[in-house]
Amino acid sequence: MTFQRGMIRWYRKESRKNLPWRKTRDPYRIWISEAMLQQTQVATVIPYYERFLVRFPTVHSLSKAPLTDVLDTWSGLGYYSRAKNLHVCAQTIVRDHGGSLPAEVDSLLKLPGIGRYTAGAIASIAFDRPAPILDGNVQRVLCRYLGIREDPRQPEIQRRLWKLAEQLVPAKNPGDFNQAMMELGALLCTPREPQCGRCPLSPDCLARRKGWQDSIPPPRRTAARKKLSYPCAVLRKGDSVLIARRPIATLLPGLWEFPGGELRPREPFLAGLRRHLADRLGIVPKNPKPCAATTQILSHRELELRAFSCTWSGKLAQPRWYMEMKWVPLRHLDKVPFTAGMAELARLLRKESAG
Ligand code: SF4
Repeated sequence: MTFQRGMIRWYRKESRKNLPWRKTRDPYRIWISEAMLQQTQVATVIPYYERFLVRFPTVHSLSKAPLTDVLDTWSGLGYYSRAKNLHVCAQTIVRDHGGSLPAEVDSLLKLPGIGRYTAGAIASIAFDRPAPILDGNVQRVLCRYLGIREDPRQPEIQRRLWKLAEQLVPAKNPGDFNQAMMELGALLCTPREPQCGRCPLSPDCLARRKGWQDSIPPPRRTAARKKLSYPCAVLRKGDSVLIARRPIATLLPGLWEFPGGELRPREPFLAGLRRHLADRLGIVPKNPKPCAATTQILSHRELELRAFSCTWSGKLAQPRWYMEMKWVPLRHLDKVPFTAGMAELARLLRKESAG
């Protein structure tokens, strides 16, 4: 049995068939699933995928929606540039392709935000084109199977792996083959403790024969996370608090937060709070008292969030930096598409007021 037939046979027998994107060949749905699955666990993606497709069932509906609606629906999934790219890409597909995703890799690659991996996944899974894919899972399987011990993130190794993926993808059932490679990496050829005894590639796998599974791929040298501090204000009117929507062209675009901002190096929390409330809302905080704190871990940053309960002087009119702001009853804060750290602050505030 060839490598490809063995992988497809294993996939058809052992793969997770209940994943919602495995029950469709609709290119739009495949595209949305691939965008969501980048950098994100399958279990996290499933409810977001289902909710997104109820809200935006077609390319047309996504293209016509305000970007803030797309970001709200995406809120909590992280890496928000993906949502912005989906939106602009849907508009391009409607304008240039009549609302249908193109089938060929070359055309897919011309769309904003679609890279080589996503183009290969859409072309092979939705359109049966023999297009290669290479993601972290496929990379690990290929490197172990072939005993490639160099760092697969190096450009020349990337080129070699793409070439291999291109040579391997079969003309018949390319989508199943590509998904088989990814699924093997996700289920058996895992970063730690791969289950070689159950693997269809086991007889010819060089890493298994040499006992190199643990050292392939070599560990990534991780840069230390940058530490940032972010004071914010809890301003109250009756039983409501003020929240503000972040601008689109920032980190965590379009998400809501308690108004505040990042500290400069060595700037005290209250000085930073005063500066940001003056710049962003045009008010001066009065009697600030610490009321909640948490730490949010982002991909390259660690954000220390401290909330201060304040009164204020000055007129709260139009926001100067935020897109919009509104008063929300404390008990409704759990419905707000906050950034993850701000959602935790909101949870602490609700808990404190309930207790
Ligand atoms: S035999 Fe083990 S190391 Fe080799 S591909 Fe299979 S799971 Fe990975």
